[in-house]
Amino acid sequence: MTHFLGISGVKEVIPVTKTYKLVGREFQQENTIVKIGDAVFGNGSFPVIAGPCAVESEKQVLSIAKSVKAAGAKIFRGGAFKPRTSPYSFQGIGKKGLIFLAKVREEIGLPIATEVMDVETFDLVEEYADVIQIGTRNMQNFSLLRRAGNSARPVILKRGMSATLAEWLMAAEYIVEQGNINVILCERGVRTFVRHSRNTLDLSVVPAVKKESHLPVIVDPSHAAGIRDQVISLAHASAALGADGVMIEVHNHPEKALSDGPQSLYPDQFFTVMEKMKAIHAIIRKKNEDIPY
Ligand code: PEP
Ligand code: MN
Repeated sequence: MTHFLGISGVKEVIPVTKTYKLVGREFQQENTIVKIGDAVFGNGSFPVIAGPCAVESEKQVLSIAKSVKAAGAKIFRGGAFKPRTSPYSFQGIGKKGLIFLAKVREEIGLPIATEVMDVETFDLVEEYADVIQIGTRNMQNFSLLRRAGNSARPVILKRGMSATLAEWLMAAEYIVEQGNINVILCERGVRTFVRHSRNTLDLSVVPAVKKESHLPVIVDPSHAAGIRDQVISLAHASAALGADGVMIEVHNHPEKALSDGPQSLYPDQFFTVMEKMKAIHAIIRKKNEDIPY
């Protein structure tokens, strides 16, 4: 190390021993802060992303966006391209959905988070999204990660459903290494043997991410739980955890939703969850004031 410091023009040498270099705390001690509209991720605040699993119609997204904005959500979510386990399930309405999302941004005034499924549609999604989501099934789609790394848009990188923390951070490294530092990690539950929920929310990964990485980390209790009542409890837990925000699925008619209805909150439930998360986060923030990350 001292050897390098002796070279003229070298001001500082940072030893990096981890395989994920750029996203590691060893490389950068201060939190990375990602701003999208009024939402700030990584500065100790707790912005909420909310909306339906899938964009179904213009009326549907405008109605839900109005409700979630009134409840305090800072970003609207909705998938136009849906990565479904079965090829026979609803696949999303594609470009039409992106156009409806643009209408939400224009009329309701919320930035848009929407998923990109492949490199082929990246340019199109990028045109409409304020923040691009890469889903759990694509966490190790390395060409997609590289393309996201060349985007000017921030990226929400969901954890693969069976990914270790190191694999997740290396996936983020693919994006950052291409020059896009605006990456928000999102824990959305991992596959376990349990049958009482869709996945198992790995709450413990949040403090582990904060120790290992400077990137903000949010929680998606909706896909973790898969069941509305559990989503509510896990959302409260996420606020208590010191996560940098949450993403929650909300639908105006969950019983008629074309995807993920059973886990989608009714707008009035979302309103109550927001109030409680706000109160819980206020307590946690005070207690965490001394923590450097
Ligand atoms: C989604 O957010 O609707 C989604 C498909 O999430 P995940 O990739 O976590 O399953
Ligand atoms: Mn969903």
